[in-house]
Amino acid sequence: MDRYGNMDGDQVRENNRTVESSRASKIPYTRVYATVDLDAVVYNMERMKANLAKGTGLMAVVKTDGYGHGAAPVAWAVDSYVEMYGVASAEEALNLKKHGITKPILILGPVHDSHYEKLIEEEVRIPVFTWEQAERLSRQAVSLGKDAYIHLVADTGMSRIGMRPDEKSAGLAARISRLPGICAEGLFTHFARADEEDKTSTYRQMERYKNFVEMLEERGLLIPVKHISNSAGIIDLPELSAGFMVRAGISMYGLYPSGQVKKENVSLKPAMELKSFITYIKGIEPGDEVSYGGTFAAKESMRVATVSIGYGDGYPRNQSGKGRVLIHGKSAPILGRVCMDQMIVDVSHIPEAEVWDTVTLIGTDGEQHISVEELAGTGGGFHYEIVCDIGKRVPRVYRKDGTTAGTKDYFQDVYEDFVR
Ligand SMILES: *Cc1c(COP(=O)(O)O)cnc(C)c1O
Repeated sequence: MDRYGNMDGDQVRENNRTVESSRASKIPYTRVYATVDLDAVVYNMERMKANLAKGTGLMAVVKTDGYGHGAAPVAWAVDSYVEMYGVASAEEALNLKKHGITKPILILGPVHDSHYEKLIEEEVRIPVFTWEQAERLSRQAVSLGKDAYIHLVADTGMSRIGMRPDEKSAGLAARISRLPGICAEGLFTHFARADEEDKTSTYRQMERYKNFVEMLEERGLLIPVKHISNSAGIIDLPELSAGFMVRAGISMYGLYPSGQVKKENVSLKPAMELKSFITYIKGIEPGDEVSYGGTFAAKESMRVATVSIGYGDGYPRNQSGKGRVLIHGKSAPILGRVCMDQMIVDVSHIPEAEVWDTVTLIGTDGEQHISVEELAGTGGGFHYEIVCDIGKRVPRVYRKDGTTAGTKDYFQDVYEDFVR
């Protein structure tokens, strides 16, 4: 028995061939993978910068592991363009630190006090909008003999986090800023509707924010790093951001925040492509049903291909019977339901299709392109969610200067202190 244990000789030989065929294509994966074009990420940063007033600071928002693209490689790629990074949790902030990021990192959501000590030590910026948060942070900072860098948060219209931008809160903010060990570096708010054509609500939020800044200034509190705009603001309202920092999320990855923003203002290139493989091809006859529930039945003889991707990889199940993939630059409709690990597509009109051919689920093949927005439209989903949900069973292949810069295989993971 070799190290493959229960595989018989034929299976092992099949496995050897698989490894060979994947080597030929220079991609070490044979089931599914996503490519992330770091040159596109840099291009998007440059295009945004060109749309903004000179000197506008940039924050790269790399939460949710860089919207599914991989936070560390994206941060490495844009490091010289940005002033700061934005993440969602203490763990994400410390992960960036672990990967050698030295520029300031701000956590964009509330943080439990159990993380304060480590975050202060690592100089991670923490959002603060209550006296309790500030007092605990202050005590922790004093006991460590270090400064805790905070960004105050104003709620100007999301009702998510932040203090109401009124006189009472201005007093609170001023008191917070005078606490020992507290360094009030930033003040931010977040737009709720900047991606809509009608900017009434966005202007109202901006007005509230500016009034709050004045209230703070009247109390002698000058905040050096003020930031409001997200991708939609960067694209549609660059003039609002002069003198502020902006937070670039979805646009950095090459997707527009919505179909209503002025795309002509900033040219963007999508960074991610999602690829899989044909694993099996067969003919089916009239009346043969395809996949769970038999939601598709052949009306005529067809040639169908099994593809090794499913909702377990984050490919949306709502594409069942509606979506399409690209094979040899041609569109192949998805037949029946998307399964957890596989799905079946129609290749009757693609006679050249063969087992181990590449299947494009997101991205370009020849003249054809499937965008994340198309998937969202077809399935009734949300484009941000689609990229964020590309799962850890999908290795990422990073492209830079026309070559592969590196890969990330999420299955190289570890369980710490696990008791079995
Ligand atoms: C996620 C997030 C962003 C980025 O938003 P995009 O629409 O992706 O640009 C900016 N600011 C805050 C506070 C966020 O939570």
